[in-house]
Amino acid sequence: MRKPLMAGNWKMNKTIGEAVTVLKALKSSVADVTDVEILICPVFTALSAAAAEVKGSNINIGAQNLFWEPKGAFTGEISPAMVKDTGSAYVIIGHSERRQYFGETDETVNKKTKAAFGAGLIPVVCVGETLKEREDNITFKVIEKQVRDGLKELTAEQAAAAVIAYEPVWAIGTGKTASPDQAQEVHAFIRKIYSEIYKDAAQKTRILYGGSVNPKNVSELMKQPDIDGGLVGGASLEADSFAQLVKYSK
Ligand code: PGA
Repeated sequence: MRKPLMAGNWKMNKTIGEAVTVLKALKSSVADVTDVEILICPVFTALSAAAAEVKGSNINIGAQNLFWEPKGAFTGEISPAMVKDTGSAYVIIGHSERRQYFGETDETVNKKTKAAFGAGLIPVVCVGETLKEREDNITFKVIEKQVRDGLKELTAEQAAAAVIAYEPVWAIGTGKTASPDQAQEVHAFIRKIYSEIYKDAAQKTRILYGGSVNPKNVSELMKQPDIDGGLVGGASLEADSFAQLVKYSK
C-alpha cells in the first residue's frame, strides 16, 4: 500500500550543467520503472533546469531546504512558493547537516514542514541520533522528540503525505550502514510514535532509511517491513549507481 520512494540528496554538489547531464542519463536508465517513485534533490541553483529536464518523466525534483516566511527582508533565503515555482514537488527538511552546521532545531523543522505543505510541497523530514546518543542508549528518546516536535500540528491528510527519513548521523557518509535489523527497529518505533499522534496516517506515511545506502546493501534494507525507501547521498551522484538503487528489487 506504500509505494517505495528512492530519493537522491545531492547535497552541495553539481553545477546546473552537471545536474542536467546526470539527469539525462538517469532518465533513460529508469524510464521503465513504475513500481518505485524517484526523487532527486539538487542545489537551489539547479532546481529549475533539473525540473525542466525531467518534465514528463518518472523523476521528481525536490529542494534540500527552504525558509518558512513567504517573502521579505530575509537575505539569502528561499521561500516555499519560490521552491514550488521551480517545478519542485518535494523538499528535504531538517537534514542532520543542517541541524549540525546551520542551527536547525525541531522548532524550525516544524515551521518549515508546515510551510512546505502550505505551498503544495511534500516535506521529507529527517530524524536520527548521533553516535554519542546511540552509545548513551537514548536513541528512542531522541527520535521520539524529533518526530513529535518536528511533525506536530499537521492535518490528517498532511500527516499521511509527509515522508520521514531516518538517518542515523553515525551512518551518513561514513560507509557504516545501520544493519537492516537496527534500521527496522527504529522505523517500527517511528511508525508507532506517529500512530499515537496521527492514527490512520501512520500506515500510509513513507519512512525512508538514509546513511551509506548503496547498490549492495539496498535490497536487504528494503526487505524490512517498515522501510519504504531510501534517502541516498553519495551513491545518488552518478546515474549508474542511483539507477541500480531504484531497481533494487529487480
Ligand atoms: P550518504 O548520505 O548516503 O552519503 O551516507 C545520506 C544523506 O545524508 O542523506
